[in-house]
Amino acid sequence: MKYDYDLIAIGAGSGGLSVVERAAEYGKKCAVVEAKKLGGTCVNIGCVPKKVMWFGAHIAEALRDAPSFGFEVEKKGFDWAQLVQQREQYIQNITTWYDGYMADKGVDILQGWGSFVDAHTVSVDGKTYTAETIVIAPGGKPLIPQETENSDLGLSSDGFFALTEQPKKVAVIGSGYIAVELAGVFQALGTQTTLVSRKDLVLRGFDDMIRENLTNAMLASGCEKAYHFAVKKLERQADGTITLYSTDDQVLSGFDQVIWAVGRQTLVEPLALEKVGLETDNRGFIPVDAYHKTAVDSIYAIGDVTGQPQLTPVAIRAGRYLAERLYNHKPHLKLDLSVVPTVIFSHPPIGTIGLAEHDARTQYGHDNVKVYTSVFTPMRYAFTEHQIKTALKLVVAGEDEKVVGIHIVGDGADEMLQGFAVAVQMGATKADLDATIAIHPSSSEELVTMR
Ligand SMILES: Cc1cc2nc3c(=O)[nH]c(=O)nc-3n(C[C@H](O)[C@H](O)[C@H](O)COP(=O)(O)OP(=O)(O)OC[C@H]3O[C@@H](n4cnc5c(N)ncnc54)[C@H](O)[C@@H]3O)c2cc1C
Repeated sequence: MKYDYDLIAIGAGSGGLSVVERAAEYGKKCAVVEAKKLGGTCVNIGCVPKKVMWFGAHIAEALRDAPSFGFEVEKKGFDWAQLVQQREQYIQNITTWYDGYMADKGVDILQGWGSFVDAHTVSVDGKTYTAETIVIAPGGKPLIPQETENSDLGLSSDGFFALTEQPKKVAVIGSGYIAVELAGVFQALGTQTTLVSRKDLVLRGFDDMIRENLTNAMLASGCEKAYHFAVKKLERQADGTITLYSTDDQVLSGFDQVIWAVGRQTLVEPLALEKVGLETDNRGFIPVDAYHKTAVDSIYAIGDVTGQPQLTPVAIRAGRYLAERLYNHKPHLKLDLSVVPTVIFSHPPIGTIGLAEHDARTQYGHDNVKVYTSVFTPMRYAFTEHQIKTALKLVVAGEDEKVVGIHIVGDGADEMLQGFAVAVQMGATKADLDATIAIHPSSSEELVTMR
């Protein structure tokens, strides 16, 4: 062979592992370069630890409501450190499994930061390796705004996962999905939480029904809000707490921890892209064509670094399809991102697919879109003190009422959406949903009985 490998992936996260795994199945000699831990963001500092914390928060909510169902329980305490320790053990088991799995597939792990030497050569810790094809899958890192004075007093989502002690009072700055997820976990586990945002509603871009209902649910759970608060400065006080100042002189004080959740940026600096003449676009993403090829023939990019929806299943699919195209005679296999189901593990969770009502009206014309909505208190909360509503919206377009959007906020939304996503992917109409026999009693039955 002319090269050391058929394929080298830089980054052993969702995308990088998927492409080498599939390529190795087709008999290709592969290596994956990883500076930190196998599994990348999702396994180590993203989806997986986040969902463990979400389950913990879910159990806290069940304990809160247990007396309403006749249980004599008293929540005597919660051991944050124990949950974190178990979570990390669970993650360790996953990464150890990956180690063995990659070895079984014959994939070499090259530990260290990878950077380009030329279009077929990667340097890792001073050693060089060549490959016919190189796949860039470095993911991203949390953004901490350097223009804010003392911004480093705040932690990122990475810092959240490193917390071994539960803070009593936190500020979570941001209004995107990571902000609402972390705020929800803190609040449910007993940390007094303030969501600090420049806007007045969370989750910009999502359907208004989702935004309003989640905001209301968060406030009802005791989470405080500081909206229209553009953070100018953080300041450590003599008692160790952190104070936040806004650009218009509002002050929030007494926080043990402050968490930044204001976005992520791509992790491209270590790659030395200039060595191969690659440039990022103005948002920091590496431009790719519909087949994930970059401007250099032998180099592809997949996952968060491409600006496609920053979700693990999208990165995995991109990696697998790339290997299918390169090594399994399917040169035209293309990622279809027209409908991407998304779940936000907030409290309550959100499931959403397709167009928000406002986007559908823009795309199809205001009068060609119809919405069906339902807001109710699910049976789970029929006689609890805390009543968390479920809200559902179907967005349909055209005379045949094709379903172009489904939006759910409420208990069970996380597990409810996947099946409906299949229907949307297949082009279901409202009549198809109506023709489906409901499952009773459930919240999801509302989606097939809407009038
Ligand atoms: C808090 C949080 C929660 C999330 N929750 C969800 C969720 O619930 N569901 C979901 O679908 N998605 C979720 N995501 C997003 C998901 O984690 C990412 O979309 C996914 O991990 C992207 O995969 P990737 O392969 O592009 O990059 P990553 O998984 O980020 O992997 C990139 C890897 O490359 C390594 N690397 C980078 N540069 C180099 C280099 N030069 N040399 C060597 N190694 C390098 C990094 O160390 C990293 O391990 C979450 C993300 C975060 C931060």
